[in-house]
Amino acid sequence: MGRSRNRPTGWAPSPEPLPVPVVDDHTHLESVLGVRADAGSDAGDEPAPATLDDHLDRAAAVGVPRMVQVGCDLDAVAWTDAVLRVDADPGADPATAPVPLRPGRRALLGAVAIHPNEAVLHAGVHEVAPDGLEPDPRPRHDASLDEALARVAAVARANDRVRAVGETGLDFFRAGPRGRQVQREAFRAHVALAKELGLALQIHDRDAHDEVVDVLLRDGAPERTVFHCFSGGPALAEVCAEHGWFASFAGPVTYGANDDLRAAVRALPLDLLLVETDAPYLTAHPLRGRPNAPYLVPHAVRRIASERDLDLAELCRSLASTAERVYGPW
Ligand SMILES: [Zn+2]
Repeated sequence: MGRSRNRPTGWAPSPEPLPVPVVDDHTHLESVLGVRADAGSDAGDEPAPATLDDHLDRAAAVGVPRMVQVGCDLDAVAWTDAVLRVDADPGADPATAPVPLRPGRRALLGAVAIHPNEAVLHAGVHEVAPDGLEPDPRPRHDASLDEALARVAAVARANDRVRAVGETGLDFFRAGPRGRQVQREAFRAHVALAKELGLALQIHDRDAHDEVVDVLLRDGAPERTVFHCFSGGPALAEVCAEHGWFASFAGPVTYGANDDLRAAVRALPLDLLLVETDAPYLTAHPLRGRPNAPYLVPHAVRRIASERDLDLAELCRSLASTAERVYGPW
């Protein structure tokens, strides 16, 4: 208890810059901006980033000039669509962005989907989750699951900065039996959409490795399939290696208890590795308890380099070129 009382909760200082720029494979910037007001800044820290441009500047300054913005509920899908358009076009009217943003910096590509735990709510399933969490439907969940999926498909089709469908998949930590069935059907619909549009797929897999792999093998995985926030061990790493599926590692790779995850980092072919923050969640050790944001991705990168006994610049070059292979050029 004393430990958590003393632990800093403000924005962490910037890490030392990476020698070669990398991509944050998966971040939720609309949620990162949402924690800004609460987090503040601890004495001696840098000031809290106030705007989206502050976040993008701070990330660029430490070697993370590009990232994949993930909108995975209907509100965030619309937010992502609008922000990507302003980010892509120097002539864009900044007033069309939902938050202040300098037009045309081309820092962002996007992924859109209905998150598995959102799919359950759109389907009107209100089971209490295995972890005891009560369902919490919002106005956006008035849209049926079919309608929600159709809106995702429309955005993915119409915005060429959307390069992935995600995050989609299975979350057996949060879903009861009926919810799991809904998640499976929604996952299959997203897999089909990614293949139809030739987009990458970003998978959310929580306590559901075997079932996720089963869907991918039965339906046929999209050509570029990424396990976002990879949470498996060497066994899932072996399956990914066999099928050429990518594994994106986030803050948990730095957590003391996760030896299995680090074994997976060592087991995977280098050219299937990606890195991400999943911000504002999963802040890397020793910064847990503070908000996460793309400028903190170097912590996971350094840990991966040391696990693989790899030169840091060499790892960064590989991470950057793999990200372009998966999502195309920024
Ligand atoms: Zn995420």
